[in-house]
Amino acid sequence: MASSSSLSLASDLQLGVGGMASNPTLLCVPLVSKSVEQMVVEMRQAKANGADLVEIRLDHLANFQPRTDLEILLKDRPLPALMTYRPKWEGGQYEGDENKRFDTLLLAMELGAEYIDVELKVAHEFMSFISGKKPENCKLIVSTHNYQSTPSLEELGDLVVRIQAVGADIVKIAMMGTDITDVARMFQTLVHCQDMQVHATTSCRPSTDVFRLEGDAPVINKVPIIGLVMSERGVISRLLCPKFGGYLTFCTLDAGKESAPGQPTLKDLMNVYNIRQIGPDTKVFGIIGKPVGHSKSPILHNEAFRSVGVNAVYVPFLVDDLENFLNVYSSPDFAGFSCTIPHKETAVKCCDEVDPIAKAIGAVNTIIRRPSDGKLIGYNTDYIGAISAIEDGIRGSNNSGPHAVSSPLAGRLFVVIGAGGAGKALAYGAKEKGARVVIANRTYERARELANIIGGEALTLAELDSFHPENGMILANTTAMGMHPKVDETPISQHALSSYAVVFDAVYTPKVTRLLGEAESAGATVVSGLEMFIRQAMGQFELFTGLPAPEKLMREIVLRNV
Ligand code: NAP
Repeated sequence: MASSSSLSLASDLQLGVGGMASNPTLLCVPLVSKSVEQMVVEMRQAKANGADLVEIRLDHLANFQPRTDLEILLKDRPLPALMTYRPKWEGGQYEGDENKRFDTLLLAMELGAEYIDVELKVAHEFMSFISGKKPENCKLIVSTHNYQSTPSLEELGDLVVRIQAVGADIVKIAMMGTDITDVARMFQTLVHCQDMQVHATTSCRPSTDVFRLEGDAPVINKVPIIGLVMSERGVISRLLCPKFGGYLTFCTLDAGKESAPGQPTLKDLMNVYNIRQIGPDTKVFGIIGKPVGHSKSPILHNEAFRSVGVNAVYVPFLVDDLENFLNVYSSPDFAGFSCTIPHKETAVKCCDEVDPIAKAIGAVNTIIRRPSDGKLIGYNTDYIGAISAIEDGIRGSNNSGPHAVSSPLAGRLFVVIGAGGAGKALAYGAKEKGARVVIANRTYERARELANIIGGEALTLAELDSFHPENGMILANTTAMGMHPKVDETPISQHALSSYAVVFDAVYTPKVTRLLGEAESAGATVVSGLEMFIRQAMGQFELFTGLPAPEKLMREIVLRNV
């Protein structure tokens, strides 16, 4: 599967750098419990799980008694503490008097807190309030939050400059993400502004390469910046924070303990994304889809990357508009993508060049940015992944062995349910192997269109149950029916399954779908979508890295995680 374009990627990925240096980005666990005792317990857990600091959200505490509770929280703390007492008007829970809030933050400083967060809107007042009283070793984070949107690059730059101008030690800007391209502006802000000289009149300038600092940008005062985009569409701002020089990223001890939308767990940051190893030169790969949060591909590809020592990370990209996403993330840093629902067909149009098989199928599930010229090349690894899995399934049941010269699909009647990206790949592959192909789809016109292209018959889903022209047919479901959580769904009635000798289901969550369970009871040979998943991912790995896929490991990872 490795192509000439991917082979040149291998050197670009700094092969053999297994022991990469860790980055300076800090991992901070926000504590949002109502009780001081619980916060103390969670501080210890955060330390044990590898966090660098905790953010103590004082505004979440019930019956908060500043002096007593701060002493308990700060005494013998296992990690440095960031104290935040967020008022309602900035998205927090505190509704009381501002002077009392300032008093509490000052007390936290005096008791030795390493960081204090104060909002930009009151930063001037707070600076006068604490004038001369801030201990040397306490860093002041001045923060601003926008819970509606992420403003323009210029406005983000201006916010950074305003925050620097009030005397912050660390800048924090947290914006709401309404599209994944919002995060690109945050990355640009991190890169352009963190090394600029600070004057109230200076603004951050965008450069020609959006993610790199301009050659002539003044590099004088390094002002650390925390720049995050909230919501599921902003997740990559948290995962790729070290690549773009963010000072810290927030992560939770467990899912459900977020202090802001989109925070990943500490465990995922460490174990899935290898965040300590991400640096400015780390290449970014990922899965483009909508939805995408459920995908196991990040677990699989990151562990596979790690096993061969490439400097790369694989993240989920929740994308609404594929063309816009690819235009914005056009830097060589974003080196390759997997494509899933609903973007596989649009991806054909968005690539500069498309592999002839992917073009014939009409669906791209893998995009590589060719290092030599930055062009996007589209491939389809679903086709070979699914067809080889079905062939091997049949060979296993027929004892015809792995070295059979002709395909066991040749001459067979092959029914594909679905006419989307996966359906097209299966239909094309079956035809290539000499099968007679029938397409059944919810939208009949799409079935007809696909059948016309590959030379086959089209059915409605309703017709499928009474379609049994011969025995020993092969059935492949390529719709999402039966996928978790709708595990009771199935695309065909049980009685109709008796005409099929082999049944394949592209759905792999659960591993044994209702369709596969019923097909097995009807005596058919069943082939799991997991097999396709593993094989298409191996094909992608080879295109991404130019290296042979670590098959044994990839199988183990998939079985461990599905
Ligand atoms: P897609 O391009 O969006 O196509 C979806 C297909 O499913 C269309 O034919 C659609 O019919 C049909 N469909 C969707 N919901 C349906 C419903 N409720 N009832 C009947 N038909 C329905 O998606 P895709 O990329 O081909 O993926 C399809 C499925 O295959 C997904 O479950 C995906 O997870 C799985 N898949 C698995 C692997 C693997 O490695 N195992 C790889 C790729 C895909 P209409 O034309 O009427 O909309």
